[in-house]
Amino acid sequence: MQLKPEGCQEWIYGDYRGHQCNRKITCTRDGKNYCTIHDPQYIKEKHRKQEEERGRERAIKQKQNALFAARLAATSGLTMEELQSVTPAMIKALPYLTGQLSTSIEALRLALQVIDEGQPNTAREYVCAVIAGSQQAIALAEGGE
Ligand SMILES: [Zn+2]
Repeated sequence: MQLKPEGCQEWIYGDYRGHQCNRKITCTRDGKNYCTIHDPQYIKEKHRKQEEERGRERAIKQKQNALFAARLAATSGLTMEELQSVTPAMIKALPYLTGQLSTSIEALRLALQVIDEGQPNTAREYVCAVIAGSQQAIALAEGGE
């Protein structure tokens, strides 16, 4: 690969031998020419923004999980500490839940729905059923190791 100094200093792979980028030059960095999309500063800034966006998404997800746990705690009678200790075990049991998993998720979904409808006792029944099912699956998972 031989880059002509007057062109954008980026080699495009993909065809037989590849070729030098032939987009319009829009900037010069350290004496080298670049088009808009291959400008090292532009790329750096783009990665920074992507990382920022991922951070925002993580924060939203964490908040959603915390809210979900808080709502479960409110209806199941478990404390947040108890829920937090049960949750990793539930995750561990997931591969063993196969048949039960879809009904568990459905029960949790129904539980959240009836909380919204102001029926905490019904929600509590749903959540307790999920916890009982998960505990069975956890026992199965631990016995199977
Ligand atoms: Zn280029």
